[in-house]
Amino acid sequence: MKRILVTGGAGFLGSHLCERLLKEGNDVLCLDNLFTGSKDNIRHLMENPHFEFIRHDVTEPISLEIDQIYNLACPASPVHYQYDPIKTAKTSVYGAINMLGLAKRTGARILQASTSEVYGDPEVHPQPESYRGCVNPIGIRACYDEGKRMAETLFFDYHRKHQVEIKVMRIFNTYGPRMNQNDGRVVSNFIVQALRKEDITIYGDGKQTRSFCYVDDLIEGMIKLMNSPKELAGPVNMGNPGEFTMGELAEKIIALTGSGSKIVYAPLPSDDPKQRKPVIDLAKEQLNWEPEIPLEEGLKRTIAYFREIL
Ligand code: NAD
Ligand code: UDP
Repeated sequence: MKRILVTGGAGFLGSHLCERLLKEGNDVLCLDNLFTGSKDNIRHLMENPHFEFIRHDVTEPISLEIDQIYNLACPASPVHYQYDPIKTAKTSVYGAINMLGLAKRTGARILQASTSEVYGDPEVHPQPESYRGCVNPIGIRACYDEGKRMAETLFFDYHRKHQVEIKVMRIFNTYGPRMNQNDGRVVSNFIVQALRKEDITIYGDGKQTRSFCYVDDLIEGMIKLMNSPKELAGPVNMGNPGEFTMGELAEKIIALTGSGSKIVYAPLPSDDPKQRKPVIDLAKEQLNWEPEIPLEEGLKRTIAYFREIL
């Protein structure tokens, strides 16, 4: 049994991770300031004697005794990370410094939830880990993209200078049950709009692409990476290489929900990446990991969840 800290544990990915780690027989400390996360996501875990919730902000230091840290605290939806961009940058940078300091003191291994956003609006397609990215450092997405890039830098500097055991995971768009209905990201937006029979809002012409990974596949990969040999610091891409346009995604969701919603077009936000698809050869070779749940199946499960909560 390990004592494991999950920052951002009351969020979408964090709550699934806490659940899996408890099932595997660990003690789980879930740390969250509940900015985009919710106690509803972890209510079913609260009675478990091996689960503890700590309301805390990662921008402030904390002293705990733990064996592993999964650092997920950070709003992930553009709507939420742009709401207070300075706070978002602090969460990524001070959060990384505080959690790396904790890892250094306790000797804990630490995994960073990094992102495909480090590739920005990529000029290389699909994106391997070796691609250094194309990020606008002064745009509206920079608070998140550059914050996550700086966090990666800090992880590698703590690794080189202080021998902290690090794992850097670059997560591509992931979706599934427990996304907040007001999250603002595309999969939850389209499903909620379809189920409410509202217009489906495509930003831009809908030809931009994304690759969508179902949450269970991603959590499996995250745990495999954390427990991989210590030489594998990463970065490691994780996501589902199936690539779809936002137009295709809207049509699929309309068909699967049987909704009469019509598609409307809204302006494309600035710096919105035109294309995105992970190269996952490293995860396949080093971790024997690849996603198993195709988009249609994952969407069915996510639609069933939203039908229940709406
Ligand atoms: P989410 O918004 O549901 O979860 C983030 C959690 O972090 C929330 O519970 C929020 O309350 C908490 N949080 C935010 N700021 C905090 C702070 N200062 N102190 C403590 N807690 C704080 O988003 P998610 O999709 O679950 O993403 C989790 C992590 O994975 C994030 O770091 C995100 O950048 C990364 N990621 C997610 C995706 C994805 O597609 N889901 C893709 C790439 C990277
Ligand atoms: N998007 C959209 N309608 C929405 C929400 C998002 O067309 O209601 C588009 C958005 O412009 C982007 C893509 O869907 O091109 C994915 O957006 P999301 O915010 O989910 O993730 P990210 O852009 O961070 O990959």
